[in-house]
Amino acid sequence: MLCERISKITPSYTVGITTKVKALKREGIEVINLGVGEPDFPTPENVKEAAIKAIHENKTKYDNPAGVLELRQAIADKLKADNQLDYSADQIVVSSGAKHSITNTLMAILNPQDEVIIPIPYWVSYPEMVKLVGGVPVPVETKKENHFKITPEEFSAAITPRTKIIFITNPSNPTGAMYTRKELEALVAVAVEKGIYILADEIYEKINFGHEFVSIASISKEAYENTITVNGLSKSASMTGWRIGYTATNLELAKAMTSIQGHLVSHPSTISQWAALAALESTEEETASMLKTYWQRRDRLLELFSEIPEVSVIEPQGAFYFFIDISSFRDRFPQEESLSLRVCDDLLEKHRVAYVPGIAFGNDDFMRMSYATDMATIEAGIQALKDYINSF
Ligand code: PMP
Ligand code: GLU
Repeated sequence: MLCERISKITPSYTVGITTKVKALKREGIEVINLGVGEPDFPTPENVKEAAIKAIHENKTKYDNPAGVLELRQAIADKLKADNQLDYSADQIVVSSGAKHSITNTLMAILNPQDEVIIPIPYWVSYPEMVKLVGGVPVPVETKKENHFKITPEEFSAAITPRTKIIFITNPSNPTGAMYTRKELEALVAVAVEKGIYILADEIYEKINFGHEFVSIASISKEAYENTITVNGLSKSASMTGWRIGYTATNLELAKAMTSIQGHLVSHPSTISQWAALAALESTEEETASMLKTYWQRRDRLLELFSEIPEVSVIEPQGAFYFFIDISSFRDRFPQEESLSLRVCDDLLEKHRVAYVPGIAFGNDDFMRMSYATDMATIEAGIQALKDYINSF
């Protein structure tokens, strides 16, 4: 008999779709994969070399539970240089991916039944993470005309005496929308007044198509105290499998998270941490080149979508996703409980293309495509969508 918590958890759709695509491939069935959000670029050479060097130098033992000191210092230096944030190495906790950083944060802050405000559409794992640690996710509707960015009014209306945290993903997965400084200032004002932590998921910071990126903690002294900055190397340095993420917080939280992870995993792999240090020191060129490619793909996709009147998209300002409005398909499937699941299942089964159903992000009128894949795959995926629409 499993525990009650588990019965409330849905497996990750994004991870599940990758597994499904890989299984089909093993059967010899080719699938156009627009599902998973994972950079299609190899990890930079100097990062791989740093890992190999760490192995040869026997840097393969237990280390500080908060992470290797040199890496924490490099993260503090990065936050100063890129984000105008003053953190000491003691305020940084390095974890096994940003996912782990987020769960550490939740474990450190939430008592049973405490609430976490999660703007819809949200990244798949947030509500499940909150439930796993005994908290209550409070998904909050946002408006398409605001590019699904939460407003201070929507935020205020969702607050109860049990609210502890609000999640802000900037740039957003799944919409690619970015918050302006002014919008963030207004949200910070509410959070500070009510004593609510802001979990600022800034993992897509570097994938930003010419907009000002503002780190929430940099807005004011109060914002700095109230914010948990989450970032990592998965997207910026194409290091998804290395599993390195981090938090920057006040000292009290950093200490709490260090003891949590000290008991659970000790710390992330030291080899990955030495590689991450190399990534922070010298992958600017690779990061810039990846950004240029994502930018070209985004622009091409905007053209391609403009040729499909049956769907509409929000122009992404960052990250590498399009959130596609498929609500016009609804009258085709009046009996269907979940439109986005039905459409994505059809696309996978009949047209061999993987999109992620919007229901995974809390909005069933949409589906998500990732363009972290080459242009030929993207064009084939869009053609498959057109073929599907033409089959109606
Ligand atoms: N936050 C967001 C918004 C993401 O899209 C991802 C990607 N999986 C993560 C966090 C977690 O990244 P990772 O655990 O690979 O660092
Ligand atoms: N963040 C990516 C996505 O949303 C990776 C998958 C995951 O970690 O869930 O597709």
